[in-house]
Amino acid sequence: MPHVSTGDMLRARGSEVGQAVMATMHSGALVSDEVVNRMVEERLSLKDACKGFILDGYPRTQAQAGHLVAWFDTRGIRELVIHLAVDYNIIIARLTGRRQCPVCGTLYNIASHPPQVDELCDRDGQKLVIREDDQEPVIRERLDAYERQTRPVLDYLRSAGRRVEEVDASGDTPERIFEKIRHAVSSHDRTQNAR
Ligand SMILES: [Zn+2]
Repeated sequence: MPHVSTGDMLRARGSEVGQAVMATMHSGALVSDEVVNRMVEERLSLKDACKGFILDGYPRTQAQAGHLVAWFDTRGIRELVIHLAVDYNIIIARLTGRRQCPVCGTLYNIASHPPQVDELCDRDGQKLVIREDDQEPVIRERLDAYERQTRPVLDYLRSAGRRVEEVDASGDTPERIFEKIRHAVSSHDRTQNAR
């Protein structure tokens, strides 16, 4: 199944819509819902997506979600939304624990992946720093933006009766989370087949 990431698509060139998006991005303006919707439709209409696809980074606003589900319904596409739920305090602990070497760029985490010597890079002994976008006020702002824009997408999809599966992604390894997602998808498939 193709992995369709709007972030990657916005950076890629080639399509007519892609060119329009690049022009908008270069002008510094936000890319409108309409342009992103068209870009996604164009991508999902390609042959490799005819048996399924994974959407990543979209829909990000309620207007995009409304447009997408209407588009799905006219084509008989049945989607499954996977919500990777992580406790706020865990997100903040992960991000505020992150340290980076200012010289070689190696990332550490004081909780889960600490350097051998406190606050010093294993490779070159440089003093580690906290990146600008990992400062706690910046993290709070990012979480606020999520609450304002993205949380309503989930609420909208649930109230519209779409299939939303919650996967707890708080404390597990990526492998374990993958298994949980696989389980959620296959139990969804079983429900479909039973109808
Ligand atoms: Zn280093």
